[in-house]
Amino acid sequence: MTKEELKKAVCEAIEKRFDDIKAFGESIFAEPELGYKEYKTSAKVKKAFDELGISYTDGWGINGVKGRMKGTKSDRTVAVFGELDALVCRNHPGADETTGAAHCCGHYVQMANLMAVAMALHDTDAMKYLGGDVVLFAVPAEECIEIEYRNSLRNKGKIHFFGGKEEIIYQGGFDDIDAAMQMHVTTTDDPQGEIQLGSPCDGFISKLVEYHGKAAHAAAAPHDGINALNAAMLGLMGVNALRETFREEDYVRFHPIITSGGDLVNVVPDHVRMESYVRAASVEAIKEYNASVDRALQAGAMAVGATCEIQNLPGYLPMRQDTKLTKLLEENCQSIFGAEHIRYTPQDTGSTDMGDVSHLMPIIHPWVGCVHGALHSVDFTLFEEKTAYTKTPQALACVLIDLLYGDAQGIEDLLDGYKPLMTKEEYLEYMASIK
Ligand SMILES: [Zn+2]
Repeated sequence: MTKEELKKAVCEAIEKRFDDIKAFGESIFAEPELGYKEYKTSAKVKKAFDELGISYTDGWGINGVKGRMKGTKSDRTVAVFGELDALVCRNHPGADETTGAAHCCGHYVQMANLMAVAMALHDTDAMKYLGGDVVLFAVPAEECIEIEYRNSLRNKGKIHFFGGKEEIIYQGGFDDIDAAMQMHVTTTDDPQGEIQLGSPCDGFISKLVEYHGKAAHAAAAPHDGINALNAAMLGLMGVNALRETFREEDYVRFHPIITSGGDLVNVVPDHVRMESYVRAASVEAIKEYNASVDRALQAGAMAVGATCEIQNLPGYLPMRQDTKLTKLLEENCQSIFGAEHIRYTPQDTGSTDMGDVSHLMPIIHPWVGCVHGALHSVDFTLFEEKTAYTKTPQALACVLIDLLYGDAQGIEDLLDGYKPLMTKEEYLEYMASIK
């Protein structure tokens, strides 16, 4: 089979498998689980791999599953990722009644894409034409949430990093991967769906903030107390006063929540806890703005005589999509999506731990417009199933074939002259430097 014939066969296989692909995605949608707790979702992946005869290893970032399809030789490996986790969105129609978890970031569609690629390569016996391995990696905990919970996992030695891909980098699960790809859904007005290519993402540092004051009777003796809630509010106002200094090109975002704001209404609050990120478009900018945010938060405590403890924790690195790989994806999308449904989009102010991976190897992370309503919100709805479950995995599979067909010259061309932004050692040093 020529490369083009193989692509055609794989694309047809994905079309034929539409019902299976959709059913797999919807089964994950129906049982949403939060990061590092994706036990049922992980079990579904293993069951599907078993049915396809794909060998795998597990325990990557607690629930990650790494499937491998072997090519005619195994010198090079290209990975397709799918994220296992949901986030909390209690009022979403798909929310779990107990945990509030819901798949309103659409990671179930990524899992369906991963399985679509696996099914198509399996059904067409494609690996005998590919000169390298394909790894299908179901990765945990992309949403950087429940920071206190993850901190407790970290303190118990169960994880080292909050992001699932970060944890897998630490564990060495990506050491044998030469390039990686994953899709992510996004919103669109295009009724036929679209694919957005190339956009970089913000990175961030996450932080736990604690204000300590002194409890006292809130009415009879507030003068004996030190109000930690007032300290926290002043700290937040201090950051708000800094916002005019945020440069447009740095795409800074600071969006704190108060997770504990006092215990009883008639007691001066002596303890307030907050979580936030400081996001920006480059590592340098993240570090610079983080220092000024910390200063403002501390100033709130100083104003009322409270104390402020800030724990900075490594968030995600800014994402950089590889230009050559993006070009390959674009070429394949021309016939699959049609030129009028392909867009290059500017900076995205969200963040993903794919940013960390993008510092170590060439990656693509297309945003696939197939959703109405906002991500992370109650009105998140998938409306364009063909884009989500057929066109996108077809495009990813075709890029895989371009990279690995024959003697895998495609991946050699991609890696020729490629220099990672960080080595793994430099990455681990960077992570350790965030305090
Ligand atoms: Zn997401």
